[in-house]
Amino acid sequence: MRSIPHFIDNRPTDGASGRFGPVYEPATGAQPARVALASEAEVDAAVAAAVAAYREWGRSSLARRTALLFRYRALLDAHREELARLITAEHGKVHADALGEVARGLEVVELACGIAEKLKGALSTQVSTGVDVAAIRQPLGVVAGITPFNFPAMVPLWMFPVALACGNAFVLKPSERDPSAALRLAELAAEAGFPPGVLNVVNGDRVAVERLLAHPDVAAVSFVGSTPVARAIQQGAVAHGKRVQALGGAKNHMLVLPDADLDAAADNAINAAYGSAGERCMAVSVVVAVGEETGDALAARIAERAAGLRIGPGDDPASEMGPLITAEHRDRVAGYVTGARAQGAEVVVDGTGYTVPGHEAGFFLGVSLLDRVTPEMDAYRDEIFGPVLCLVRVATYDEALELINSSRWGNGTAVFTRDGGAARRYQLEVEAGMVGVNVPIPVPVGYHSFGGWKESLFGDHHVYGDDGVRFYTRGKVITTRWPDPAAAADGINLGFPSHS
Ligand code: NAD
Repeated sequence: MRSIPHFIDNRPTDGASGRFGPVYEPATGAQPARVALASEAEVDAAVAAAVAAYREWGRSSLARRTALLFRYRALLDAHREELARLITAEHGKVHADALGEVARGLEVVELACGIAEKLKGALSTQVSTGVDVAAIRQPLGVVAGITPFNFPAMVPLWMFPVALACGNAFVLKPSERDPSAALRLAELAAEAGFPPGVLNVVNGDRVAVERLLAHPDVAAVSFVGSTPVARAIQQGAVAHGKRVQALGGAKNHMLVLPDADLDAAADNAINAAYGSAGERCMAVSVVVAVGEETGDALAARIAERAAGLRIGPGDDPASEMGPLITAEHRDRVAGYVTGARAQGAEVVVDGTGYTVPGHEAGFFLGVSLLDRVTPEMDAYRDEIFGPVLCLVRVATYDEALELINSSRWGNGTAVFTRDGGAARRYQLEVEAGMVGVNVPIPVPVGYHSFGGWKESLFGDHHVYGDDGVRFYTRGKVITTRWPDPAAAADGINLGFPSHS
């Protein structure tokens, strides 16, 4: 069986802890590989490599860093197919979706290629007679990233290109369930010419994460994953005096007003709920229909489209949806469908017990549509993270808004309507970090920032875009006075400096 190593100092490094985690091929249920789970000592080795690299890298010129990022961008572009295949093999998502993930990650590398523009700083001359003030931003040092299974390439790419561009060294701890894409990203960075130690990958589980949180040489932690872990990461990082951004889970609502184009709304609900088998933090997991007629029309249209979805292995070009990440997760998701029926929901489409001929041991699940879901039901209250769409019916816009704003999460949301005034009202009134107007998955482009509200993000900074640059740098303000050859000496004055 293949063993997946760490990547430290631009070299694959075999795991020395004696601990390994299984890496499955979700489409077949086979376990072709195992991944090293780092001990504290191995995390320390990765951080030490980053500390050593940072001494030079933190002082390297913008010209050098930018040139490397452009080379990296070209290499990633040339390896899109290979990266997508790695993602599909270990995650299960279909190839086209995996290619899309790589493309969205590349957007952030492109942002990082233009980092010079973001790091220009500011200068105020003659703030007082003979005095100038400059504001600059400098790197933090060694920063760590901890990432989830559902975007094994894109989420790491949300983080380290910006961190490196700003002059930091990076230690990445990818998900232990599908680590190969992250490892390949690091190998390609080495190939692009990033010096040893600037980008390290340490594979592992909770042991590695806790060591990164406690390590005195790690200045900041970026995390993306589930809400309970995000909350713990924020608390752990703060307790150790670190800067932290911890993005958590979600329950994204799609509000459909009666005037919406209901065919388009149904198409978008299908794409956003069942794409990547619902394993997206921006998946639509609840459709909120205003009015019984809207609810009836949507239920019928979604059910009709769901019946035609092609579910199968991600490397089959005919497949539109692949398997889930593990058998346990598949069973947990299926449990929500059974539970919702018991709690009074109408199971319009039941995806439980679904098998793909020839792939009976794969972690497949069909898609489900639950109608007449109420806020007390577990299927509504929990993040299911699978191909299960809840339909909630409300009578008015105000009732919808109250429901959506009562959610403990606030990642993304969308409104479907033809009424510009209603859409405008919603985008101002809804409590979520990312809003789509007739756009179901409003993931911001690389030069804006991604992040939710409430329990979808712990910390003050969103990721990538301007917030990413702020997160990976700290400000310094320099006040300068040079002796003016024509001016008289200052003389002694013990008063607080004031301007004149
Ligand atoms: P997860 O929280 O289980 O794992 C995320 C990372 O944390 C992994 O690297 C894992 O090894 C580590 N981890 C897990 N348990 C830990 C613990 N007890 N202590 C320390 N570290 C631990 O998440 P996942 O299942 O890999 O990913 C799915 C979740 O991520 C969903 O909740 C999804 O909504 C969320 N997510 C959020 C965003 C966002 O931008 N808000 C994006 C993608 C995924």
